[in-house]
Amino acid sequence: MVSINFNKRFLLSPLQGAGARVGAYYSLNHQSPAVTFAEATVKGQAPDKGLYFPQLIPLLPKGFIENIGDYSKEEIGVTVMQPYVGDSIPGNVLQHIISETINFEFPLVKLNDAVYSLELFHGPTLAFKDVGARFMSRCLGYFNRNSNHHTTVLVATSGDTGGAVANGFLGVEGVDVVILYPSGKVSPIQELQLTTLGQNIAALEVTGTFDDCQAMVKQAFMDNDLSQKLQLTSANSINVARWLPQQLYYFFAYQQWADGQPPVISVPSGNFGNICAGMLAYRSGLPVQHFIAACNANDVVPQFLESGNYTPKPAVATISNAMDVGNPSNFVRIMEMFDQNTGNLKSMLSSYSVDDATTAQTIKEVYTKCGYMLDPHGAVGYYALSEYLKTHPNGKGIFLETAHPVKFPEVVEQATGTKIPFPESVQYLAAREKKSILVDANFESLKEWLIGRG
Ligand SMILES: *Cc1c(COP(=O)(O)O)cnc(C)c1O
Repeated sequence: MVSINFNKRFLLSPLQGAGARVGAYYSLNHQSPAVTFAEATVKGQAPDKGLYFPQLIPLLPKGFIENIGDYSKEEIGVTVMQPYVGDSIPGNVLQHIISETINFEFPLVKLNDAVYSLELFHGPTLAFKDVGARFMSRCLGYFNRNSNHHTTVLVATSGDTGGAVANGFLGVEGVDVVILYPSGKVSPIQELQLTTLGQNIAALEVTGTFDDCQAMVKQAFMDNDLSQKLQLTSANSINVARWLPQQLYYFFAYQQWADGQPPVISVPSGNFGNICAGMLAYRSGLPVQHFIAACNANDVVPQFLESGNYTPKPAVATISNAMDVGNPSNFVRIMEMFDQNTGNLKSMLSSYSVDDATTAQTIKEVYTKCGYMLDPHGAVGYYALSEYLKTHPNGKGIFLETAHPVKFPEVVEQATGTKIPFPESVQYLAAREKKSILVDANFESLKEWLIGRG
């Protein structure tokens, strides 16, 4: 274990004074009181609708970063997460939670001399959201251990989130999970991952769009009848327990990074939770040259960095659909980390918008040149990194490959002309039976179902 000197080694978060505490969180809307990690996890969002942000960002010891190769993944996980968890979880329990959260590989794969892929799809649902969902589910299970009322996790998904949350929460005592997904609009593997688990997981198949699902969930959180009858919480990346453990990817990448100069890191971004976690790791002392937010046609952030105007828009549908977000919820956290100063932010972050034709072309080219099969999200990350390296020819970089290509078979098979083998780890799904509950795309249908079963 690495010991961190709490008094000297913590940076103060920009807006907090001398009263700041380890493992405490303030609301970015500044109207609600500060809370512990446990409260922030259970609540999800502050009562004033602000996102929670840590009062203190740890500054990790130099020796830990320099000798990171000497530490196990579990030791890195505990060292990085302990200051954020504070007193909410005892050390031995945290260690157990971390070891269950990260018990698969995070390989860094070389594509050419300048570009590496950090594969984040080796978890049970083949996308990077597994780490956040597994960590959050176990934390919530721990916080609920002595409670006799159930928590209901309500989540809308366009595909990946639902599977990761379902898998992460499967069998967790005291927690019921209700997933809303748009009928006919998720890929076959994604649907099997959502609908075949049973136990404490229910899948509501909504005859509508993802936007309908999201609107139904939002309304449920504001409904008085439901909040009296059920203890509802959300499991998206605004929750600190889902957001913060994503920092570990960046430490695992650095552990495998053999080059003398720090990497440029390109992150396929939608809600900006993952890249925000990377930037937090950087603020804690992890060496990074520059970050790239790789976006699809949903270009609010690239536009903002260019023009200075932040203009949210309705999401447009793309082939990298997990990034179809018109108003990225975590961007306020990134601004907070850079003192709400766009100039400071720009010195560390660039952003590119990549259209669908370029994404498909990138999948094809990389397959032809390197024999490496990208998924559409990773392809956006790869392309944005290549663009940046054109103007920074001495740089070397990593893009995050956030999902396995088999989750998006139509796009990838068309671009490469090759059938994607079904990974062994998910072959069991093919034999499972889909169980979903059809509901109309309106809030009343959801409410009726929730109350009827509660
Ligand atoms: C969720 C997701 C993203 C976007 O991550 P954010 O943290 O929302 O920016 C990118 N790729 C895949 C495959 C995803 O599932």
